[in-house]
Amino acid sequence: MVSDLFFYQLGLIVLVWLCLMLQWVWPSDSAAVCPTTPELPSPVPKRHREPTPFAGLTTKPPCDACEHSTDPRPQPPSAPPPRLVPTRGRRRQVDTSMHFCPNPDCAYRGWVGWGNLRANGHPNGGHWRQLLCLVCHGYFLETLGTIFHGKCVSDDLIVRVIACLAEGLGIRGTARVFEVDPTTVLQWLVEAADQLRAFSTYFLHDLHLHQVQLDALYAVLSAVKDGTVSEAEAIERLERSPRWVWVAMDPESKLLLGLDVGDRTLAMAQCFVHQVVQVLAPDCAPLFLTDGFREYLTALLTHYGQWVQPERRQAHGPAPKPRWRPVPQLLYAQVVKTVRRRRLVRVHHRVVFHVAAVGRRVSTLCKHEAGLRQQLALYHVYHNFCLPHASLRQPLSQPRPTQGHGSAKTWQPRTPAMAAGLTDHVWTLREVLLFRVPPWPQPAGM
Ligand SMILES: [Zn+2]
Repeated sequence: MVSDLFFYQLGLIVLVWLCLMLQWVWPSDSAAVCPTTPELPSPVPKRHREPTPFAGLTTKPPCDACEHSTDPRPQPPSAPPPRLVPTRGRRRQVDTSMHFCPNPDCAYRGWVGWGNLRANGHPNGGHWRQLLCLVCHGYFLETLGTIFHGKCVSDDLIVRVIACLAEGLGIRGTARVFEVDPTTVLQWLVEAADQLRAFSTYFLHDLHLHQVQLDALYAVLSAVKDGTVSEAEAIERLERSPRWVWVAMDPESKLLLGLDVGDRTLAMAQCFVHQVVQVLAPDCAPLFLTDGFREYLTALLTHYGQWVQPERRQAHGPAPKPRWRPVPQLLYAQVVKTVRRRRLVRVHHRVVFHVAAVGRRVSTLCKHEAGLRQQLALYHVYHNFCLPHASLRQPLSQPRPTQGHGSAKTWQPRTPAMAAGLTDHVWTLREVLLFRVPPWPQPAGM
């Protein structure tokens, strides 16, 4: 992590002067984008040369996700029903303001905290509370739509199993710790992942960010820790057929915008950039920082491009064809690091479009292939909402005494989601798993 931070800062310094030096640069040939391209341009150019402007493309590069676009966030019905205010009876003891009616035929379906729900005790002496909708007279449990619904095992066990997975223990390890069947652990992970994907979609939208860092990490799916192959062998094997984990992060808040697994191909780059664009506000064009993978450029150009009619060069002949060019707000830069045997050999910086990118390639070890995608969905939420990040903590104006004998707390822990303004507190994993994700975004100021 230290070296990542260092190279990130180094990257920014170099980029600042590169931005000053270059106004509109495009790699003049394909060799120029090879990660082994030697030497940065020297700070003082020997001879001034006009940078060649990027002419643009004659066709818009295709993106599968754009063409089969389905909005991941359904919009609410045009007008919400009137809020219900209780007029008689004693004040309700149980807070139902985080819940919504699930009945598809109810006018109040999906509206959170609309006053239509009342707690109705614990049916059959069960652990979970029953809720009643006063409009449709339907009953449902407070766990409806969560992993706990319909399970007879202890909710504490489920929370601990998922927490262990979030901490990276792996399916078999977790199964051994809690003495449950590995297939049960995998089943719970799969169920939790569906819920957590919806959770991320619900909270991550219309973000206004200054920067987005796109990285790819090696997911080493091997038996390294079992000792059947050495780490070096595993990495060598993966060089031939690597599994890549695609990561998009806001370097300021550390918010993870997207995580996915797939080959390093143009199709995957398009799909991943498309996902990232979905969580950004429509008018947000952040500075994109990537590693040297060529296809990022095409994917960014696809999603941040527009048709431009070039000016005529001659008075006669046909008008020039329109060109697909990056929108003027698009800022994109690459930092290319050469990693050999997990040691950093070289760092190159290249500016694409008028400004800038910093990327990193990190080797990581992921022991089991089963449930990798689901583990990513879990890690996505856990990282953003549950894990306070040391670099994000804020000093408290008044030291807060601890409950035990420890010294007073002087720092306020903060998670990436708090730093990004998505929530005001550190979520426990239990809270996350109990959160019933509403079917559509709720109006602001709830
Ligand atoms: Zn209802």
